[in-house]
Amino acid sequence: MASAKYVFVTGGVTSSLGKGIISASLATLLQSRGFRVTIQKFDPYLNVDPGTLNPYEHGECFVTDDGAETDLDLGHYERFLNHPTSQANNVTTGRVYQSVIEKERRGDFLGKTVQVIPHITNEIKERMQILGNSGDYDVVITELGGTVGDIESLPYVESVRQLCWERPDDCAVVHLTLIPYLSAAGELKTKPTQHSVKSLQESGVFPDVLVCRTEYELTESIRRKLALFCNVQTDSVIQSIDAATIYDVPKLMKEEQLDKVVLKKLGLSHTGEADITNWEEFVYHLNNPKHTVDIALVGKYVELKDSYKSISESFIHASSFLRCKVILHWICSEKLDATSAIESLKNMDGVLVAPGFGPRGIEGKLYAVQYARENKIPFFGICLGMQASVIEYARNVLHYVSAHSTEMNPETSYPVIDIMKAQKKVINMGGTMRLGSCACELKKGSIAHAVYGVDKIDERHRHRYEFNNLYLNDFEKLGMKATGINPESGLVEIVEIPNHPWFVGVQFHPEYKSTVANPHPLFVSFVKAALKNKS
Ligand code: GLN
Repeated sequence: MASAKYVFVTGGVTSSLGKGIISASLATLLQSRGFRVTIQKFDPYLNVDPGTLNPYEHGECFVTDDGAETDLDLGHYERFLNHPTSQANNVTTGRVYQSVIEKERRGDFLGKTVQVIPHITNEIKERMQILGNSGDYDVVITELGGTVGDIESLPYVESVRQLCWERPDDCAVVHLTLIPYLSAAGELKTKPTQHSVKSLQESGVFPDVLVCRTEYELTESIRRKLALFCNVQTDSVIQSIDAATIYDVPKLMKEEQLDKVVLKKLGLSHTGEADITNWEEFVYHLNNPKHTVDIALVGKYVELKDSYKSISESFIHASSFLRCKVILHWICSEKLDATSAIESLKNMDGVLVAPGFGPRGIEGKLYAVQYARENKIPFFGICLGMQASVIEYARNVLHYVSAHSTEMNPETSYPVIDIMKAQKKVINMGGTMRLGSCACELKKGSIAHAVYGVDKIDERHRHRYEFNNLYLNDFEKLGMKATGINPESGLVEIVEIPNHPWFVGVQFHPEYKSTVANPHPLFVSFVKAALKNKS
């Protein structure tokens, strides 16, 4: 079996240039040529994983089937490739050091001084090759978080240098950089890129391809200048012009022949063209909707839209599938009370209450649920959103006026949402929630059963609290039904209200499994219900 090839994607000049999207777009092109591709991300921060980070720090925390709490770029990888990632696809400096220090304590390096070089770099190199060595992939794309020149990125750059030296025929380095436009001079400027490439070269890493983020077209002479001073072939200077959506990027990269240049460098077949017809159809329908709907996304992190990345992307997948543009209205739950909830939601065709942690903004979420329930507006509650729908129902229909989740009020006399038994003894906060894929059996006759079209599903979780089954009978008697149950634990995973047009709360996160090729059926059904409500 031929060994896997490696593409390293580094970033220069500034952060936020979209390394994740470039990596995912390149992977999409290679995949559509028949290569088996995966993408992994190495992040230079010291958290062992991003699970303990506030969304304001780093955007959403994405969760894989195997329960890894990861960087949101892994969501892009899955959405573009329609292929699951895993714990191995996201590594942080914290994880690398943790593992080296555990080995030191075990005595694996007995007698030796443990150092950044070679112990940390060896650990990084080993982890960079885990997926490649599995035999499951032809090409592994590795995105290096951070910007070249950062102190914390140095061990990663050194590891890339060593791998390129050890496997010269198997590696390519793509450097994503910014070509700023100086309006006073009326010119695109190449100097920052020259400097960032020089900084890589000083570390012994010689990029093969430059992907240049730019607001204006790169002229032939700029391409030649970049090639000459950055030591790459002219056809390896790839323009990445600002695009309307991230979904336009694969086509732009195809036009610039990024896939061909990379394949050539890796010594892989690069004849013919990548067939991205399905992708282009997806983008066409996204840009040419026949209908629109207005949907409220109620959450407490709405100032930073990346906090709900997978949810907003799931709506995009559903939009294209249904030819129905979803206009998302980001509503801050902290600002909602009985009056403002009416004002904010009265023109909405559907209401989604988002996941979250802690008490801030919870009362506003309850008002949003109540408004959607009483006014028969399609309602979709995800994780804390589902828990909010249960609390609201308990308070306003069951008349347990002080009902709450013990997360928000440990003293409540009606703990309708309570901490899971397995969570009671948990002391460490990192990686200890109920995480990853769990089974759920669907009740016949429910919306969920109709939507999924099967009796049993698997969805991904990230929570510590659950529906308190002590109250299940009370809820079911008064109309809220548990329509999805975990077969092993009996945990309620889905609630519905049958005499409402579309009221579904899910304890899991369907948004983590929606992809371009496979829009999530719950999002599709919810948008359909919103469209019906509108008409
Ligand atoms: N805070 C809630 C819990 O831990 C919900 C979590 C979430 O929305 N992801 O159960």
